[in-house]
Amino acid sequence: MLELRPNCECCNKDLPPDAADARICSFECTFCQDCTETTLGGRCPNCGGELVVRPIRPADKLAKHPPSTARVVKQDGCAPAAA
Ligand SMILES: [Zn+2]
Ligand SMILES: [Zn+2]
Repeated sequence: MLELRPNCECCNKDLPPDAADARICSFECTFCQDCTETTLGGRCPNCGGELVVRPIRPADKLAKHPPSTARVVKQDGCAPAAA
């Protein structure tokens, strides 16, 4: 089951479980749409994997399966994808 992390690893933007602009890789590294499209070029900077739209968990399931509250942020932010 997805952790549904609460923020972007690059810019620390809040990404609540219903955020339409959350992107994740297969390891669930989590980023916002802005960072994914501009800084990262659609690739996870941690594992090199594809970043895809994070599915939104239905609100009535969140009570029983709440999102993670552990914020993960990269210390030095994200380097732009190699041009
Ligand atoms: Zn971001
Ligand atoms: Zn990753």
